[in-house]
Amino acid sequence: MITAEEALARLKEGNARFVKERTRAREDGSATRRVATAVAPHPIAGVLGCADSRVPPERVFDQGLGDLFVVRVAGQVVDDAVMGSLEFAVLAFEVPLLIVLGHENCGAVTATVNQLQGSAEPPPAHVGAVVDLVRPSIAEVVADGTGDDLAALVDRATHAHVAATIAKLRAGTPYLERTPMVPAYYHLSDGKVSFGEPI
Ligand SMILES: [Zn+2]
Repeated sequence: MITAEEALARLKEGNARFVKERTRAREDGSATRRVATAVAPHPIAGVLGCADSRVPPERVFDQGLGDLFVVRVAGQVVDDAVMGSLEFAVLAFEVPLLIVLGHENCGAVTATVNQLQGSAEPPPAHVGAVVDLVRPSIAEVVADGTGDDLAALVDRATHAHVAATIAKLRAGTPYLERTPMVPAYYHLSDGKVSFGEPI
């Protein structure tokens, strides 16, 4: 078992390698690694991130097979299944750390901003369900940001959404209350992840 501090340091080091294009050669496909993780997986962290194809956590943190317990859904929204998946990471695999990873130019957040500003048609049913889960996190930021540049507003909304997501996880289940959660934000162009303080 590693500590939350050690896990966070490994994720930061991995992202630094990713940014510098010095990711590790891995033996993920080797029988040795597959057997080791099949018998006893020891993920070092849980990551709740967006489904966006540009933000795969194993890549941006340069981690290998079995290293991360990843839950991905558009806009990294939380519903009961997501909550249950993260509880499972903590209860079954004892991950010492949870990361909530937002990212630049998130389509789910942008769609929600557009809805709140009345500048787009209502999304189809199940896309609307994602927007409905993002909306409470960012309604205040969008109301305060009238007249802002859209990209800047989406950026602020995404940071607010990550913070609200952590608050929702904290309030939603007693099983996560002792696990440090770290807000994080991925920059598409340079590959850097900015980490907030553990909450
Ligand atoms: Zn996204």
